[in-house]
Amino acid sequence: MQYLLIKCLRSFTLLLGILHFRVAGICWLLLACILPLSLNAHAARLAIVIDDVGYRVHNEKKILQMPSAISIAILPNSPYGREMAQKAHKQGREILIHLPMAPLSKQPLEKNTLHPAMNKEEIAAIIYDAIQKVPYATGMNNHMGSAMTSSLNGMEKVMSILSQYHLYFLDSVTIGNTQVAKASAGTAVQILRRNIFLDNVQTEAETLNQLNRAIALARKQGSAIAIGHPYPTTIRALQQGLATLPDDIELVAPSRLLNHTQPGKQSNQQTEQQCRNTQKSKTEPGTTSEPKMDYLKMVGETLVPGVIINTLKQSFEKLRNSSPKTEKLHSAAQIKSKKDNAERDKAKTKQNKTGAHKAVSTCSDS
Ligand SMILES: [Zn+2]
Repeated sequence: MQYLLIKCLRSFTLLLGILHFRVAGICWLLLACILPLSLNAHAARLAIVIDDVGYRVHNEKKILQMPSAISIAILPNSPYGREMAQKAHKQGREILIHLPMAPLSKQPLEKNTLHPAMNKEEIAAIIYDAIQKVPYATGMNNHMGSAMTSSLNGMEKVMSILSQYHLYFLDSVTIGNTQVAKASAGTAVQILRRNIFLDNVQTEAETLNQLNRAIALARKQGSAIAIGHPYPTTIRALQQGLATLPDDIELVAPSRLLNHTQPGKQSNQQTEQQCRNTQKSKTEPGTTSEPKMDYLKMVGETLVPGVIINTLKQSFEKLRNSSPKTEKLHSAAQIKSKKDNAERDKAKTKQNKTGAHKAVSTCSDS
């Protein structure tokens, strides 16, 4: 009897030990997951795009040696455009079609430069040709374009054609009163907007200075988009600047900023969050795991960056994006954001007149 009692007590103690070990293990696992998630929760996103690719192979190969989050925008009729697209694609680098658009000033133009007076068929043929010449492109931005992008009628034709393709449009903002956002309203085309030109002044020091401005803006807004060119000074400045990029700055491809923190879109983020909250209250219990994901994200945000959980975070975002309900929410938020864009455009045009936005008023017609 005594022997049995001792045996029972031993088994019970062993069971407690195993349970204790498992509970402790789960706790450590959760901590290991949540802590790094929270550490990266406040990383600011910076997208860098190198324009005018396809002419200067020697310089451009140096761009391809930079982190694959640096994206390239290829001129469709350039001699090495296709070759560069293939190389960049193998690296997993994002590619944009750098579509030539008419400037206000007289300059030598690329072949197939879009002009506001062109009819829709002519524009459609040029865009189709560009898509064939720049394989793997997921987005498009304007080369030059102060005349074309300031024409609402011209850009409406571009947007209506682009909506047939799964390409986003990055407005290079080569003129203050760009009509890109307004023209995209009501279409499926997603819009991004350039914040900083890295190399209007072609010196290493000034490009580094502009890179720092982009970093500061990303911290302030949550994200920023900078555009540079394959100039030797830009390459040297980037090599130097990227080697010492602060830990709280995450280099991303522009497409990572779609539906997330677009420049100056805090109000849209709030709208998206409000939509999510409304959706959650309408969701029947057990039909989605979104409240759980939101809880984990919330817990993460109260703590502090790490590597493992950035992956988890991306998985959560993928889960969100895979939900059809969430897609509807994004669409609703996009429509709202396009309206906001149009309104902000008006405001920015006013600001530009007063010189408040130097980046826009001084940017080159690249
Ligand atoms: Zn350009």
